[in-house]
Order: sequence, then structure tokens, then C-alpha cells
Amino acid sequence: MIRYALICDRGHDFESWFADSAAFDRQAKRKLVSCPHCGSAQVEKAIMAPRLATAKRGKTPEETAVANEPPPPAAPAPAPEPVAMLSPQERELRAKLKELREHVTKNADNVGSKFPEEARKMHYGETEHRSIYGVASPQEAEELSEEGIDFHSLPILPDERN
Ligand SMILES: [Zn+2]
Repeated sequence: MIRYALICDRGHDFESWFADSAAFDRQAKRKLVSCPHCGSAQVEKAIMAPRLATAKRGKTPEETAVANEPPPPAAPAPAPEPVAMLSPQERELRAKLKELREHVTKNADNVGSKFPEEARKMHYGETEHRSIYGVASPQEAEELSEEGIDFHSLPILPDERN
């Protein structure tokens, strides 16, 4: 999906989603893209340059004060936006992954790089079964799974990669 800033022949600007740039060209040609303000089907991609030019201009103290305030809540979009519909689910999924990670790290023993060794001991009945977590190299992980040892990767959240 691609979002375009669009402008109609009466100067209204708005945004809309398209599958790709060819889809926009096709739909615009067949007059299927219309301005949500006036309904005009004379729509083209907005040129963004004027906005960039004004952004470079120095700000007055008043404008700076306004810019420092938290942005106002976004107005409801005129057209349905798939991303806005998905994000609550994504947030929920992300919270669940975090919960799982926290649960495992709180309730399991961190055996660090001894993970393959400890996992094997448990698998072959040398030690009692308990929850453990640690690290394993890709090769170690492969060996463990070849031996039929059941383990899982802990989900890593995007903001924890740094
Ligand atoms: Zn318009």
C-alpha cells in the first residue's frame, strides 16, 4: 500500500491509499479518485516542494511555542485507512509478546550460554524438568532440534534490538 498526498482542481488537498503507483494512475484516469471535499474527479498528486520550502523558514517565538505542544488528536480520516484499523491489533500482539517474554524471564532460570547443555540434561533425564532460558548459537539450536529437544525462541521486540 502507498499513501499519496493529492490535490483536486479546486485546490483541496487530501490523502488516499493505493495498492501501488500504477493503481493510482489507473484509478485517476478512470475518474475513480474523487476529492472528499468537493467530489471533483480532477485529482492529481500534490507537489510537496512548497511545504518543504516553508519549513525551512525561521520560526517566530509564538510558532515555536505551538510546535512544542503535543500534537492535537488526529481528525477522523475521510477515507478508511487499513493501517489505522490494524494498529490496535498490532499493539495487542506486541503486548502479548512482551508479556510472554516477561513471564519466561521472571519464572525461568537464566542459564546463559549453558542452555544447550542444560536442555540436554533435562531431555535425557539427568536433571529434573524446570523452565530455563539462555542463549544458543544457530548451530547449537539446530543440534538440539535434531535431537528432538523442544525449545522456543524468545520473541524480541523491535525497540529492544538496539
Ligand atoms: Zn476538491
